[in-house]
Amino acid sequence: MKYPADRYPLWNDWRWQMQNRVRDAASLARWIPLSDAEREEIENCTVRFRMAVTPYFLSLIDPADPDDPIRRQCIVSSKELIRSEVEKSDHLDEGGRSVTPHIVHRYPDRVLLLATMQCGMYCRHCTRRRIVGESDMTPTVEELDRELDYIRAHPAIRDVLISGGDPLTLPTPRLEEIIRLLRAIPHVDIIRIGTRVPCVLPMRVDGELVSMLKKYHPLWINVQYNHPRELTPESEEALRKLADAGIPLGNQSVLLKGINDDPETMKELLLRLVHDRVRPYYLYQCDLAEGTGHFRTPVSKGIEILHALQGNISGFAVPKYVIDAPGGGGKVPFVYDYARGTEDGRIIFENYEGKLFSYPENGGSTDV
Ligand SMILES: *Cc1c(COP(=O)(O)O)cnc(C)c1O
Ligand code: SF4
Repeated sequence: MKYPADRYPLWNDWRWQMQNRVRDAASLARWIPLSDAEREEIENCTVRFRMAVTPYFLSLIDPADPDDPIRRQCIVSSKELIRSEVEKSDHLDEGGRSVTPHIVHRYPDRVLLLATMQCGMYCRHCTRRRIVGESDMTPTVEELDRELDYIRAHPAIRDVLISGGDPLTLPTPRLEEIIRLLRAIPHVDIIRIGTRVPCVLPMRVDGELVSMLKKYHPLWINVQYNHPRELTPESEEALRKLADAGIPLGNQSVLLKGINDDPETMKELLLRLVHDRVRPYYLYQCDLAEGTGHFRTPVSKGIEILHALQGNISGFAVPKYVIDAPGGGGKVPFVYDYARGTEDGRIIFENYEGKLFSYPENGGSTDV
């Protein structure tokens, strides 16, 4: 920690962290040294894209490294101004799949509820960057209650994913109102929350929040960690509190060029997560969101990384590598193809070490 909490008496107060988020070059320069060129770059980019970083997350940056993996996730870059022809603003067609202003219904048994557009930090690679940070898009509880009529009228919906934005930036009583309304719908079985708060604002995970959440089981939480350096003692403490409240934790990482696109970094991240009782769930191929081209790797990279990990580390430490299909087709898993053809009625395939094995294609069934 380069900025010890004792220099800022309110450091561990999550509201202080939210209020003191760094949003422009001038305030950033108070935290990390910036050259004139860097300052100008940030000024030019914040005109186009919103930036906001908690002092906590900023404190994880190594100021000596211009390519620091923490810095690249939170500080705007002129590369964001490059618009590639494959990118679209609403590339997942969430607008087209919206059944109310804040509910996206893409799969048969579950919906996405956009409860707020605020986040602790605006990730530079965010897939929903077209809308996050617009406070006027945060619905009131009354507005949401009316929209929940859609869920009430559709008994097939058994899983509601509360996301945004980051729902854990809402005040606890307000979040509780939303969860309570969902819990009152008999056919809603699972409530899920998608959040980056334990990573970027771990002090938010306080006793009040955790005792509220544990009243509404079965409740699952998916977090987002992209680099092992994000798993600081404060952050691990937040995860411990959530896990101790009986909340199953999953992690959704985004594959980011120069940040985690190598098997060693990924392995360190995944093993640390399972140590913290977080089950790696998805590794996302970076979406075609505007100005994120510098983060995207070829698809073969993700397949290669998972191939390198599968079999070498605990099975439950390996996430699924998915592409969220542009245009709104949903998440599709991509895997290394272990099959090497068939021979004499047997399929030939590789194991994790690349050795060849075979198995009777018809299963050698005796029940004919
Ligand atoms: C990702 C997503 C979900 C949840 O999908 P899972 O694969 O079950 O995690 C639900 N609705 C929408 C619109 C989504 O984008
Ligand atoms: S926390 Fe999630 S919604 Fe918010 S900016 Fe990061 S990726 Fe986007």
